[in-house]
Amino acid sequence: MTLQLNDSSLFRQQAYIDGQWVDADSGETFPVYDPATGEVIANVPRLGAAETRRAIEAAERAQAGWAKLLAKDRARMLRDLADAMLANADDLAMIMTAEQGKPWPEAKAEVAYAASFFEWFGEEAKRVYGETIPAPMGERRLVVLRQPIGVTVGITPWNFPSAMPTRKAAPALAVGCTMVLKPAEQTPLSALAVAELAERVGIPAGVFSIVTGDAEDAPKIGGEMTSNPIVRKLSFTGSTQVGKLLMEQCAGTVKKVSLELGGNAPFLVFDDADLDDAIAAINVAKYRNAGQTCISANRVLVQSGIHDAFVERVVELSKTVNVAPGFDPSATIGPLIDDPALEKVARHVADAKTRGGEVLLGGDVHAEHGRTFFLPTVITGADMSWEMSNEETFGPVTAVHRFESEADAVRIANDTPFGLAAYLFTRDHARIWRVGEGLDYGMIAINTGFISAAEAPFGGVKESGIGREGSQHGIEDFLELKYMAWAGIRDE
Ligand code: ADP
Repeated sequence: MTLQLNDSSLFRQQAYIDGQWVDADSGETFPVYDPATGEVIANVPRLGAAETRRAIEAAERAQAGWAKLLAKDRARMLRDLADAMLANADDLAMIMTAEQGKPWPEAKAEVAYAASFFEWFGEEAKRVYGETIPAPMGERRLVVLRQPIGVTVGITPWNFPSAMPTRKAAPALAVGCTMVLKPAEQTPLSALAVAELAERVGIPAGVFSIVTGDAEDAPKIGGEMTSNPIVRKLSFTGSTQVGKLLMEQCAGTVKKVSLELGGNAPFLVFDDADLDDAIAAINVAKYRNAGQTCISANRVLVQSGIHDAFVERVVELSKTVNVAPGFDPSATIGPLIDDPALEKVARHVADAKTRGGEVLLGGDVHAEHGRTFFLPTVITGADMSWEMSNEETFGPVTAVHRFESEADAVRIANDTPFGLAAYLFTRDHARIWRVGEGLDYGMIAINTGFISAAEAPFGGVKESGIGREGSQHGIEDFLELKYMAWAGIRDE
């Protein structure tokens, strides 16, 4: 398949190390598939530890010079990169839809979101202020600098092929760190396209490298990233299982880690909720990216008094959700990413049925499109014994639980080792505070399904992760404090 791009040089099938487009030492490649058709759309190098080490060494050589630039000069380049992404948004979205499957307009929206990190963090880097502290002794001045942590690495998943890489690279580069990034094996092309644009706007060699590999190569690349003493920080987004492993591996050289792992988002709808708001939010929090986001509503908890009306409206909404290939203009959701994703969704639905769940809509793959095109699905009668209540489904399945009291809702919502995002629908201000404070989650969406922004701190608590991305807190994760005690400042 050849994509009809305005600028075909954005379609890169090599890794990018130290400012060079390179193949694997072995010459081996792995295929990247279009999930809508199963066709191979690209062949990308299978790198391993040796190439990753070279990328890290190049990042070390580049780091001091990059950090020495004025913040405003780095900011200017990042702004140029954001602008270049926006100028090429149609092509970047085509590449993304081809490798990930999401509808092209949704891919285009992700490109704008991805670019916003370069713009926002570039600006914010001009405000990495230090501190002076009133001294506890005479003749002293206490000063705190905030300096770039140094060489960093990022590992990203396939669900946001452009925004996950930029959410990591933007704060790193903005403050003077360098980064070696490994995109997911399913979706390396979007990250490579960003690297192509980074090169064009003048980001120096070694500052931002991309190492590619397939699922078998990931432990080798990750092993080098986490054991190499040059690397001072790992930022990972992906499964909890891999996050725990990487955190353990980072212990050997005591690296700083940021982890954005799985969620199991509760979506609480109280009797006094505005139904229109709640349904509009389901459309985003459940059906965006076919439900394949770590903040997707996973447990929809609805109070008894509004339960039936809510279910009726969700079914109505779900009937308007059109499953089709991402390049079809009528598509609102595309295919699931791959066969394991489909197997998980199908397993969750089968489990729900055996436990008494009533499937009101969907429950199967699309008759015409087949493959991994899963129908929008609504199931009622859910409880915490269901598999899908305990693991992220990552599919377009809305499972509705019924609850009676506010206390029950909070208890069920918190009954999970995860704590990324939660959604809350009520018009009672006191309840917003009580429930908002009571939910053990890093992010609470109140009467909305949309919370992500470069300006806001994205991240979770409990086993959903460590650290925040986006906002000034996202910058902090790439900085070290340096305290300087100056003595001998005596009176004349
Ligand atoms: P998902 O279930 O979303 O695919 P994973 O955690 O498996 O989540 O993958 C997220 C990212 O982590 C991908 O880039 C993948 O290649 C990478 N990855 C998976 N296993 C390892 C590993 N052992 N070491 C380093 N990276 C890994």
